[in-house]
Parts: sequence; structure tokens; C-alpha cells
Amino acid sequence: MKFYKKFGQHILVDRKVIEKIISYAQLKGDESVLEVGCGTGNLTEELLRHSRKVYGIERDPRFVELLGKKFSREIENGRLELIEGDALKVEWPEFDKFVSNIPYSISTDITFKLLKHKFSLAVVMYQKEFARRLVARGGKEYGRLSVMVRAFARVEILDYVKPTSFIPPPEVESAIVRFIPEPEIVVKDLEKLDFLLKKAFSNRRKKFGKIADEIGIKIPEELRNERPEGIPPEVYAELSERL
Ligand code: SAH
Repeated sequence: MKFYKKFGQHILVDRKVIEKIISYAQLKGDESVLEVGCGTGNLTEELLRHSRKVYGIERDPRFVELLGKKFSREIENGRLELIEGDALKVEWPEFDKFVSNIPYSISTDITFKLLKHKFSLAVVMYQKEFARRLVARGGKEYGRLSVMVRAFARVEILDYVKPTSFIPPPEVESAIVRFIPEPEIVVKDLEKLDFLLKKAFSNRRKKFGKIADEIGIKIPEELRNERPEGIPPEVYAELSERL
């Protein structure tokens, strides 16, 4: 079978990595799991073994057909439900946990779609650089994404994964990330926060005092000489209320 780069088709073949993902997901056997991008079903198979029910969203009809054959029994007895379509467009079912090796090109959109759903735990494979941006609290990798995600969840990198764990190997390294849906910052108005973050991080080199003047908010004197990447998530949350 030909794998399509545009669909981010890199099949996870490393059993050790699959085992790790399963153990990080702390599946107790009685939960429902949503997987986006099942591919040939390597991860799906283990998810089925450790949960009550798996929902799999896959957009490539060739994989949906293959999965239908491979898991015909599980589909018949209702333990696996395949949803053919674009995970960004189709409605997601209710689920307890989200466990996926997603196509990296849709990382941001999938992440925010996930964060708007109710779940107890998520374990997601990302491109390493994206994962580093998710967990950053300052510095070069810190930005809009790092702050926004904290309005929804606690996020951490659990492991790094080498390209050779996939077929075909991606050009980038990967990382396994865990989300626990406990907001780290209190945000009254997400749109205001996002507006502030856009203004701040499109001017990374500007001093924060100047940015604050431009958008018309008063900030503590000691923040004026900071750069946007030196302002912690909770301070952004607080300042967004002054807009
Ligand atoms: N989870 C599998 C495959 C990962 S590759 C494994 O670990 O082996 C990413 C998968 O996501 C591919 O099967 C690709 O066809 C699928 N995919 C790509 N874009 C998608 C989208 N928008 N919605 C749902 N699935 C998508």
C-alpha cells in the first residue's frame, strides 16, 4: 500500500512505543477511547484489548476498508465503531479517553477540538517541536499555543520517539504528550486572552511595555522591560481581563 504524505501517514510499528502509549493511557478496561487516524490499526488493536469501546476516526477509505476486515468481530459486537471522515469536520462521539498518533499537519486544530470536549485523560503523539511548544512556560518555544492550552489542561511530555519507530519514517522526531483536563490558569474570556497573545507574540522582540501601550492596557512597572516570552501564562490570563 502507498502511504500518503499529505495525510501524514506514518504507521507506528515499534511495539515498545505502542506498549508505552497504552501504559501512559492508564486504561482500566471499562473506558471508551477515541482514536483519530487509526491507519492500519496497530494502536487500535491494543486499545481494543484494554478498553470497553473504541471509536476510530479515519479519513482514508483504504484504511477504513482494511480496518473493517481486520476488526470485523469487534465491529460486529459493538466494541469498535469506525467513523470515516475528516476528524476536524465530523462530530466526535462522547469518550472517556483520547489516545492517538495523529497526522502532525493538523496538530493545532485537533488539539483545540479535543480540549473543547469532555475527557478524563489524553495521550497524543506529536512532532517533537510542537510538543515542546505545548509545554513551554517561557523562552523561544513559548507562545500563544503554550498559554491557550493551559486554559484547558495540564500538559506534559512523557517521552520522545525516534523516526525509525514509524513506517515510512517521518523527517522529524516525535513526542508523546499527556493532557489532564485541569486548567492551570483561570480565564474569564478566551477571546480576550487570544487577542492579547496574538498582539504579544507577533512582536516577540518588542518590549512588553510597548505592546501594552499599543493595545491600551496598564501593566505593572516591572513587566515593561520584559519580552513577551518572559511573561508567565497566569500573568497573561490576569492581564487579559484588563482589555
Ligand atoms: N495511528 C496509526 C496511523 C497514524 S498515521 C498508527 O499509529 O499506526 C495518521 C493517520 O491519520 C493516517 O491513517 C491518515 O490516513 C489519518 N488521517 C490523516 N488526516 C486525517 C483527518 N483529517 N481525519 C482523520 N484521519 C486522518
